[in-house]
Amino acid sequence: MPNQTNPAATVKPTPGKPLAGQNALVTGANSGIGKAVALAFAAAGAAVAVNFVTDPAAADAVVQTIRDGGGKAIALKADVSVEAEVEAMFARAVEEFGSLDILVANAGLQRDAAFTQMTLEQWNKVLGVNLTGQFLCARAATRAFEARSAPAVSRAAGKIICMSSVHQVIPWAGHANYAASKGGIKLLMETLAQELAPKGIRVNAIAPGAIRTPINTAAWQTEAAYKQLMTLVPYGRIGEPEDIGRAAVWLASDDSDYVVGTTLFVDGGMTLYPGFATGG
Ligand code: NAD
Repeated sequence: MPNQTNPAATVKPTPGKPLAGQNALVTGANSGIGKAVALAFAAAGAAVAVNFVTDPAAADAVVQTIRDGGGKAIALKADVSVEAEVEAMFARAVEEFGSLDILVANAGLQRDAAFTQMTLEQWNKVLGVNLTGQFLCARAATRAFEARSAPAVSRAAGKIICMSSVHQVIPWAGHANYAASKGGIKLLMETLAQELAPKGIRVNAIAPGAIRTPINTAAWQTEAAYKQLMTLVPYGRIGEPEDIGRAAVWLASDDSDYVVGTTLFVDGGMTLYPGFATGG
């Protein structure tokens, strides 16, 4: 049955620029995956708010790269785990761009420790940034989508992409706080998807496997570490941030308009139980 209620269903895509005319905010966008998503979004035609909390020079460099390519971008400082900073950041983004269409809640970190050694501070830090940060940003984005007065630029009334991890399903010894935060993101995302779909807002997640970024240098920097890592990756190579950037463009675009509440695993097969490849 055709969509009879979506007033934006007639929005025409621009060839080669699936996000043309759309405004996005990407958290943790001055490094790694967030940076690649910001650059891919800009190449796809979106204006991008580049969130950062440390290293403003790196955020400015991302903004400059986008502007040099003829795109529109601003850098916005905010700690995603602090409510007032998140609220101020979204207000600034809407003030600057006029409206908001896409959030990529990407900011995240690790504070690893054996379970009996894990401090409450390490636990709270990871849950605060990885999970509460996604709650605060998703809530602010949803309010911005609902307040929209600008003409529709997409079939959906707004899109949220939560950056999760294969560790939303793979337990990870020595990383209880991180795995708990990503497991939490899974059901946060699915609940938001269920609650917001009737409003025309699509919420999905990307679960990266091992991606070459500063968060996990120990896993790929030496030849021995890389070889060990490959025992976990059936496809036989580490993921690059651009692998996630391309997936995010698709998930934010009308090409995925009927995709709601899904986690897209971009992991080279890491979640395929590679230990069983030879019979277990
Ligand atoms: P990264 O360290 O390069 O990037 C993390 C970004 O988050 C940085 O820009 C950092 O400054 C930012 N950040 C941290 N705390 C913040 C805060 N309080 N407020 C705002 N920003 C904050 O690492 P990455 O690999 O690019 O990680 C990005 C996301 O991808 C994270 O959520 C991570 O859990 C997830 N992820 C990464 C991998 C991987 O293999 N690299 C795998 C699965 C999931």
